[in-house]
Amino acid sequence: MTADTFRFFREDLCNRCGNCFAACPYLELPQEKAKQEINNLIEQGVSLALEVCNTCHTCDAACPNGADPYELVLERWSVRNEKGLPATARLVMPSEPCNIWSSLKAIMPPDELALLGAWDDFSPCEEICLTGFYTSAVPYILKAKVLEGLPKLVGSEALFGCAGDIYKTGRFDMVEQIARRLERLFSEMGIKKVICSMSAEGMVLSEILPRRFGAKFNFEVEALDVWLLRRLQDEKIALTRDLGMTVTVHDNCLSKMQEGRLQEVNREIIRRTGCRIVEPRHARERALCCGFGAAAARFRIMDIISSGYRRLKELEDTGADAAVIYCPACLFILSLIKEFAGSTMPFYHPVELVEMAAGGEPLRRHERRAWDMAALISNHLLKYAAFPSYRRPFQPAYIPPELTPLPDLPAGDRRRTRALAALYHSLLVQNKAVRSLVSLTFKRAAAAYDAKRRRRLGLRDHSVTGTAPDGVVGPVNGTGESDRV
Ligand code: SF4
Ligand code: SF4
Repeated sequence: MTADTFRFFREDLCNRCGNCFAACPYLELPQEKAKQEINNLIEQGVSLALEVCNTCHTCDAACPNGADPYELVLERWSVRNEKGLPATARLVMPSEPCNIWSSLKAIMPPDELALLGAWDDFSPCEEICLTGFYTSAVPYILKAKVLEGLPKLVGSEALFGCAGDIYKTGRFDMVEQIARRLERLFSEMGIKKVICSMSAEGMVLSEILPRRFGAKFNFEVEALDVWLLRRLQDEKIALTRDLGMTVTVHDNCLSKMQEGRLQEVNREIIRRTGCRIVEPRHARERALCCGFGAAAARFRIMDIISSGYRRLKELEDTGADAAVIYCPACLFILSLIKEFAGSTMPFYHPVELVEMAAGGEPLRRHERRAWDMAALISNHLLKYAAFPSYRRPFQPAYIPPELTPLPDLPAGDRRRTRALAALYHSLLVQNKAVRSLVSLTFKRAAAAYDAKRRRRLGLRDHSVTGTAPDGVVGPVNGTGESDRV
């Protein structure tokens, strides 16, 4: 399949009403302008959406005809990215030596490395818990006692996160390669059921790969979120105390599929722990991106920072005691943004809330992991500045159907990442004066970058606190207490 033949947008179902781009929380267009933009994208392949899309899936949820307009954005990116991916994409490509996972392994504590080693076991097994791409960046979450009863935990970055990230780049050739690898592996293992610790990967396995790439999977897919709620309903997990917190919830992009079923599952888990929910301004089917998806349009780190900061502000503006983030990828990106912004709002994964309500003490390393992430991103930026060859767009390696060894992190990267991590965790950085300076600079830079960019594109300044978009059709679900509590 090439970019020319790839068609996921259902033009036959589109009446050019503009509801999709009017609802887009990044375009924030009045209806007439939204109609013009979708028309331009269909007819000429140009649109502001190609510049600002955060891959949030809101437009798909807002389309009354199921035409899948986000997939039209992907089709256009697909043509552009066929020629090669920008250097920043190396970070999320396990076939590149200096990626997030290989870099993190250089600085992770031994207990987490032991977990990752144990998960890398693809021997035959009928039922597994697939640990997930970004759960591998925060593996300590799966050590919770309330998860006893899960089937064997299995996972490795060699599965490329079931292609979830790569789908967002529009590199459909690679998505197909990963689909073939997964088909082969799961069939050889004799898998009948997969419980996905990253529900977003569950959506890719159950929706995107079978429906759009013809993947033939002969197994049932269930999200860990659903498994956890069932354990609570069946009283297999005894909750011994109400947490009594007011929390806000961050919904991820793929949670908007299947009519937002997983969004409600997670809210039900949260309520059972004795927490009260207040929704952020953009919630559920209109939730903002954590910032990660902002990379897809232009692969610029400042796009991730300004988008993530906007989301963090919305979570903080609820006045909640804490935020619950059920996608591990969103959790680590927002943790990074939170640390740099100097926010004191605690973040919890639902598993941690349940562990606490069951009387346990979860291992909470999100803040430490955020600085680990800062170290590996700093190493990437140093290489970007120093080596022209690293800066150039690259063609990712072919991914064969069989599992093949991944490249090792080069010794120089290992040394630099360790040194940077040691620095970031030391008192030289972790002191009040430096943290305040980092926070001030970060917030100013994020807000100024966002405002300048939106001015350049002729988009209204939503401001980092988020104002109600004029062109929204239907409610911006949120503001105040959850309507479904
Ligand atoms: S909302 Fe759906 S039908 Fe309306 S313009 Fe967008 S894609 Fe077309
Ligand atoms: S996916 Fe989200 S950011 Fe992208 S065009 Fe659709 S609504 Fe806008």
